[in-house]
Amino acid sequence: MTATDTLRDTLRATLRTLVGDAHVLTEGDLTAYEQDWRKRERGRALAVVRPGTTEEVAAVVKACAAAGVSLVPQGGNTGMVVGSIPDASGTQVLLSLQRLNRIRTIDAANLTVTVEAGCVLQTLQEACEKEGFLFPLSLAAEGSCTIGGNLATNAGGTQVVRYGNTRELCLGLEVVTAQGEVWSGLTGLRKDNTGYDLRHLFIGSEGTLGVITAATLRMYPMPASQLTAFAAVPSLDAAVELLGLAHKHLNAGLTGFEVMGDFALGLVRKHFPQQNVPFGGMSPYCVVLENSDHESESHAREQFERLLEAALEQGCVLDAVVAENIAQARALWHIRESIPLAQAQEGLNIKHDISIAVSRIPAFVAETDALLEQHFPGARLVNYGHLGDGNLHYNVQAPDSADAEAFLRDQEGPINALVYEVVDRYNGSISAEHGIGSLKREKLAHHKSPVALGAMRAIKGALDPHNLLNPGRVLAVD
Ligand code: FAD
Repeated sequence: MTATDTLRDTLRATLRTLVGDAHVLTEGDLTAYEQDWRKRERGRALAVVRPGTTEEVAAVVKACAAAGVSLVPQGGNTGMVVGSIPDASGTQVLLSLQRLNRIRTIDAANLTVTVEAGCVLQTLQEACEKEGFLFPLSLAAEGSCTIGGNLATNAGGTQVVRYGNTRELCLGLEVVTAQGEVWSGLTGLRKDNTGYDLRHLFIGSEGTLGVITAATLRMYPMPASQLTAFAAVPSLDAAVELLGLAHKHLNAGLTGFEVMGDFALGLVRKHFPQQNVPFGGMSPYCVVLENSDHESESHAREQFERLLEAALEQGCVLDAVVAENIAQARALWHIRESIPLAQAQEGLNIKHDISIAVSRIPAFVAETDALLEQHFPGARLVNYGHLGDGNLHYNVQAPDSADAEAFLRDQEGPINALVYEVVDRYNGSISAEHGIGSLKREKLAHHKSPVALGAMRAIKGALDPHNLLNPGRVLAVD
C-alpha cells in the first residue's frame, strides 16, 4: 500500500465519521453517480459522499480541503455538459446533495420558499402548488433534477419568456465555501444594495466556486387559467412573427413559446408512437404556446382566439389546436418535452444549446442548415427549443446509415467549429442554458473574450485558490 493509498483510506474513514457509514459509498454499482446523463463519459470516484445537513457538507469540504482532495458537487446528475461526475482518476470525492432535500419554509406574504439544494424540482413545484402558489421553473428533467443543480447551471426551461432563468427566481443562497465555511444569505430580500451581490457569482458557476446548500426562491400567485395551443407554422420566420403577435395579444400572459422542427417531432412519433403529435408532416415547424391568465379561463380563451385569428389572417399560422382541458394541455407539452428523450433513443448526437437574438434566428438557421448540408451530407438536423428566449437546441444526429459513435468521434469537432463560427458571427452564445462543464471548456476559451476569461480566473482564484471545487470544469486552471 502506497502513502497515497493510506491518505485516501484515512480520508474515507474521516468522511464515514462525519456523515455515517451508510452515506459514504465506495463499492457496488455507482453508475448513477459516475456516468453522465448523455452517457458521454464515465468517471470513478474516491468515494460518493451523501451529507444530510449543511453542517455535514461544511465538514466534508473541510476534511477534503485538509487532505488536498477535490470535490465534484452533484444534484440529480441530469446536466448536459459533463460537469457533475468525477473524472476517471479515482481521486475526487463525489459530493451528492440528494439527502439535503427539505423545504424549510414557505413565506406566503413574502411570496418566497426556502428550500435545500437537493430538493427535486418537481417536489418543489408540487409543494408550492399545494399552498396555492406557482414555482415557475419547468423543464423536462424536473422529475429528477435538483434546485441546487438548477441554480448551479442557471437553468432556463420553458417559462423563461415570462419568469426568467433560475437566476431571476433566486432571492438568496446558503453556500459552503471552498474553505468549508458557511455563507448564509437566505434573506429573501428584494432590495439589498450592500456591495457585491455574491449570490450572482455562485449562480451559474457549476459547482466551481462554492457548494449551494439552500436557496430562497420567488413564488408567484397561481394563475386562474393556463391554456396551451399547438400550431403549425409555414416557416421559422412565421414562428417569429407569431411570437410578436403573441406578445402583443397576451402580454404578460405569454408564459411559454417553444418551436419544434418537423424532424424533431418525427423522432417523437417514431420513439413514442403512443403520443398523438398533431399536424404530422404538414409544416416544417410547429409551435407550442401557453397563455396564463389571472382573470378566468373564458378570458384566456378569448385572448387565444383573437391571437390565432390574427395569425391565420396574416398567414403565420396554418392550423392550430387549443387544449380543452388540463390533460390535453399536458399531452401537448409532453410532446415538446419528449424531444430530448426521443433524440437520446435515436442514438448519440451532437448538441448545440445556442442563443441568438430572436429576430436573427431564421437567418442563422437558414445559413447553418445550408453549410451543414454542404459539408456533412446526410447529417440529420434536430432543431427545437425556447424560441421565446432566442434559445435553440440546434442538434445534429448522425446520418441514418452511419455508425453514430464513429460519426461523433470524427465529425463532432468540425461540426462544432462550423456551427459556433456562425454563432459568433451572429453575436450569439455557445451555451444558452446548459453551461460549460468539461464538454465545452475548450470552446469557451475560444469564444469568450480574454478580458472576461481573465476576470473569471481571478474570481476562481480568489474563492477557491487551491482549485478544489469541480476542477477542470468551466475554466482550465493550473
Ligand atoms: P447536476 O447534473 O447534478 O449538476 C449540474 C452542475 O451543477 C454540475 O456542474 C454540478 O457540479 C453542479 N451542481 C449540482 N448541484 C450543486 C450544488 N448544490 N452546489 C453547487 N454546484 C452544484 N436545462 C435547462 O436549462 N433547460 C432545459 O429545458 C433543460 N432540459 C433538460 C431536459 C432533459 C431531459 C435533461 C436530462 C436535462 C435538461 N436540462 C435543461 C439540463 C439541466 O442543466 C439540468 O436538468 C438541471 O438544471 C441540472 O440539475 P441537476 O440537479 O441534475 O444537476
